[in-house]
Amino acid sequence: MNKRILRWGLLLLVLVWGVSYVFIQNSIQTKTVGIQPFENFPQESIDSVKQSISSLYKFQVVVLPQQNLPKDCFINVKSPRYRADKLLKYLKSNRPDSIDLMLGLTTKDISTTKKDKDGNVKKPKSKYEDWGIFGLGYRPGNAAMVSTFRLRKPGLTIERLQKVVTHEIGHNLGLKHCSQNKNCIMDDAAESIKTIDAAGRFLCDYCSRKVNVQHASE
Ligand SMILES: [Zn+2]
Ligand SMILES: [Zn+2]
Repeated sequence: MNKRILRWGLLLLVLVWGVSYVFIQNSIQTKTVGIQPFENFPQESIDSVKQSISSLYKFQVVVLPQQNLPKDCFINVKSPRYRADKLLKYLKSNRPDSIDLMLGLTTKDISTTKKDKDGNVKKPKSKYEDWGIFGLGYRPGNAAMVSTFRLRKPGLTIERLQKVVTHEIGHNLGLKHCSQNKNCIMDDAAESIKTIDAAGRFLCDYCSRKVNVQHASE
């Protein structure tokens, strides 16, 4: 009798272990990011972006062949720029089936229209209608666009680029700006490069849990 209970008990234990194993495996997000470099984006920067995505999110990264920036995204209101919102649409519609998230990289200036919480163009309109930005990503979504144009500073450009990229991918994964931890990569970049330089390179515990990413403490 006791042996029978033991046997059933063991069987149950194995079953519970098996079910939880499958559950845990499924909850770990394994996604593939496709880097789309535009107009001879430097290889060294591509490599460092690739490395930061795989170390922070543990995603696979594929580098797609370089392309020219689509001409219909060009605008010249204040200065020559490419509209980031249009570039996101372009990336989204050119996403191969094997890729979950598209990440466009350019050295050219990119812009978007900054709106207030009611959805109107922020005032002064002349300033915010075509607003130069570091990066833009859908939240949630499958495309992000980052430019090094406003990140350039000797010795700092690559670190800034890695931070902006992992921030925009965080938005793609559904993360909002983070007020839990000032060192979190999802801290609001506001309108200043200072915030980016002050932010850490990692997701805080709260954001990590939200996207099922193991907290990287190194
Ligand atoms: Zn953001
Ligand atoms: Zn956070």
